[in-house]
Amino acid sequence: MLNPATGEVVGTVAATSLAETDAAIARAAAAFETWRAVAPGDRARLLRRFAAVVDAHLAELAGLEVRNSGHTVGNARWEAGNVRDVLDYYAGAPERLTGRQIPVPGGLDVTFHEPLGVVGVIVPWNFPMPIAAWGFAPALAAGNTVVLKPAELTPLTALRLAELAREAGLPADVFTVLPGAGSVVGERFVTHPAVRKVCFTGSTEVGTRIMAGCAAQVKRVTLELGGKSANLVFADADLERAAATAPYAVFDNAGQDCCARSRILVQRPAYDRFLELLEPAVRALRVEDPARETAEMGPLISAGQRDRVAGYVDGAEVAFTGSRPDGPGFWYAPTVLLAHSPADRHWREEIFGPVVSVLPFDDEADAVRLANDTEYGLSGSIWTRDVGRALRVARAVEAGNLSVNSHSSVRYWTPFGGMKRSGLGRELGPDALHAFTDVKNVFIATEE
Ligand code: NAD
Repeated sequence: MLNPATGEVVGTVAATSLAETDAAIARAAAAFETWRAVAPGDRARLLRRFAAVVDAHLAELAGLEVRNSGHTVGNARWEAGNVRDVLDYYAGAPERLTGRQIPVPGGLDVTFHEPLGVVGVIVPWNFPMPIAAWGFAPALAAGNTVVLKPAELTPLTALRLAELAREAGLPADVFTVLPGAGSVVGERFVTHPAVRKVCFTGSTEVGTRIMAGCAAQVKRVTLELGGKSANLVFADADLERAAATAPYAVFDNAGQDCCARSRILVQRPAYDRFLELLEPAVRALRVEDPARETAEMGPLISAGQRDRVAGYVDGAEVAFTGSRPDGPGFWYAPTVLLAHSPADRHWREEIFGPVVSVLPFDDEADAVRLANDTEYGLSGSIWTRDVGRALRVARAVEAGNLSVNSHSSVRYWTPFGGMKRSGLGRELGPDALHAFTDVKNVFIATEE
């Protein structure tokens, strides 16, 4: 494991072998029988205690993420707090996981939300803590046991969270973290029959393979995949605010964010003015040692990712860039590109770095057409003062998470997920719990 800000080694973690993965899945399957039988109120109390222990270790978890992932300390604190909040939110679920009573003649018909068994959660490197919690918290609340594979580059916080779960009193083998290779541990979650659901976040390419693999066993699957989200700026918008916030909507986490608004579409009459306002905002972004309180953007995760990102900028028209520190570490300056056509490679492909492309549009229909001209559909923003237009465009854009006159995507109590090739199913919010259960219908005859 390297510190992305310095390139220095921060630790080594042994990769779990196939045999160890199988053994851990078998233990998780055995633990399921007791965990599902824990009384709802007791399961809830254990999850609340887990949240409290995470809360007591926020600074430690955040520090670990700064070192292992290069996240700014402000972001890392939010991420650790998000784990606590997601646990607290779903700790309210066990006693509320109610079924229905449906009128049927001759007896009583009731439904149950049964837990599935062992759930396999596969996590990418860009948000190691929150994405792990979005899977394990509702899965555990619904009565499943969890095996979780962090990304190869960023296992440290997940391993610590598993220790904190034990400290909070969760029984052994209810929540197990298995660091290791996607092709070994991750694949085994897909092929092992005792794993009854895979909850995957990562690239669309790997997600597509996972879905195909799960099909062989009709295994439940949730996919949170890539994005190429549009930030639509209409000429009637508050251009100052739209331009001041646009850098944060794409350069947060150094652009390694599936929700990054990496395509800015500006209505033609406002195009020049918007770029004029965007430039100082991008130049002012503080790209520095992520451990500093003032840091707004840190390094990229790896040298490989930096080279990938640079490949998209080569040959493209750069409008302007922000700053980056000199010296070691995997730094890349925030970069604004002018797109010449929607066919440009940097306009079409997910870059997953601090690069944003800008393109003008003519009218509302043009904006919607360009926004939807992508295989992805994760998030997006709409800037306009016209309420009717905001609603029309929000309904027309094919994306799972839209914000009007803001860039917010993720709240633990609202649903999150993608349309089209950005994913399948929804995480967070009131309904995510049901994705970790199967409905069972039971009819009890009352006639003699
Ligand atoms: P990735 O798909 O390469 O890896 C994600 C995880 O899958 C890792 O833990 C990896 O080890 C594992 N994996 C790899 N091959 C596997 C296989 N054959 N079987 C099972 N598991 C396997 O993605 P990444 O590079 O780590 O993450 C970046 C991607 O994640 C981006 O495309 C980004 O958009 C996406 N992402 C999406 C969301 C979302 O919520 N939609 C959130 C964060 C990241």
